[in-house]
Amino acid sequence: MFQHRDHLGIENGHLTIGGVDAVAMAEKFGTPLYVTDESRLRANYQRFQSAFPDADIYYAAKANYNLTILKILAQEGAGADVFSDGELFCALKAGISPDRMLFNGNSKTDAELEMAVREGVRVSVDSLDELRMLSKIAGVQGAEVEVAFRVNPDVSPKTHPKIATGLKTSKFGIPHAEVVSAYKEALALKNIKPVGIHCHIGSQILDVAPFAESARKMMELVERVNKIGVELKFVDLGGGLGVPYKPGEKAPSPSELADAILPIFEERTKSLGIAPKLILEPGRYIGADSTILLARVNTVKRAYKNFVGIDAGFNLLLRPVMYDAHHDIVVANKANQSPSDTYTVVGPICESGDVLASDRSLPKVEKGDLLAILDVGAYGFSMSSQYNGRPRCAEVLVCDGKAEIVRKRESYDDLLKNQVIPSRLKG
Ligand SMILES: *Cc1c(COP(=O)(O)O)cnc(C)c1O
Repeated sequence: MFQHRDHLGIENGHLTIGGVDAVAMAEKFGTPLYVTDESRLRANYQRFQSAFPDADIYYAAKANYNLTILKILAQEGAGADVFSDGELFCALKAGISPDRMLFNGNSKTDAELEMAVREGVRVSVDSLDELRMLSKIAGVQGAEVEVAFRVNPDVSPKTHPKIATGLKTSKFGIPHAEVVSAYKEALALKNIKPVGIHCHIGSQILDVAPFAESARKMMELVERVNKIGVELKFVDLGGGLGVPYKPGEKAPSPSELADAILPIFEERTKSLGIAPKLILEPGRYIGADSTILLARVNTVKRAYKNFVGIDAGFNLLLRPVMYDAHHDIVVANKANQSPSDTYTVVGPICESGDVLASDRSLPKVEKGDLLAILDVGAYGFSMSSQYNGRPRCAEVLVCDGKAEIVRKRESYDDLLKNQVIPSRLKG
């Protein structure tokens, strides 16, 4: 019924997640509502880790940096790839050890670099400018900071252009041809110790070939960098493994990814007689299918299309609008009914682009029905906003047949938070 998604089921005609009735959760906690299945999240992590038993897994926090999610993954042994001071703050709060993190970013502030050095987090350096600043900052703190360079390997994964990050035209990384001289400079700089090399070629990649290509390019660089005297403690090949969002879509498994890249990594490290740690940074793979978004149908309108208006829009799920992403939709209170018509599911936002799903075959949809939008655990809530004056929704975690709130619904007061009215306008 739900293909690979074993954690979803149907009971009494209702969708269940982790064995808990979605309709009952919507009644108890209200809608819109993000619901995550803890066992699925753990199982995804474990599947990835067991495909790479010797590698360190640094979960890409930006996919979903809810503290509870980070804590669960920390329990599983995950480190973190953080892309901002805020993500670093959250990962530390969740108890992830600073020596199991990499601070990434193409445009870090001096304050972010200071924080990374102070917390003892390794930095993936994206430019020579940043390298020189980091050396100064570490000098002021009397510290030595371990760094990697983010390499732009110039490979072209077949994915949405907005999530291809390893093209030579991308804003990320040091151009492939300049990497060796960057390491030379790092070796010469005070308070800097180059110990790693890093790339990340993009996201939602459904073919292992680009991963193999970037692994080969990276291992060539490893050899060249090794020759100039850099002692590499780690090689970080990033994240990007895709998941099957669409019916019938095929995505490589972590073990297929391992088959494609581990031989390349192992063969070259062996021939060089070095033993750097392999690091991988999956985000989407860990979270995506663990979570659904429940939304209530406000209205059904036959117009140019058969529009279903729900209470969640791109304020809560940006992916369809931002990346033309597909998310499967289930009518949660009619989960065992057959499709009867074609519907276009739209949000309540005052933008004609606020379309979450176009032309879907669904059972007869009526006002008051509950829709479940599937696979929203990565880049879902973490990309949400308060646009249109809509407080963000609650998040719930399901475990052992129980549902608990892990983030409260925002209130109107949250819309006003931090706003200051100049006193001349008061009264
Ligand atoms: C976003 C990102 C990831 C995670 O990508 P996924 O496609 O979610 O696996 C990993 N590393 C870096 C540097 C990233 O920016």
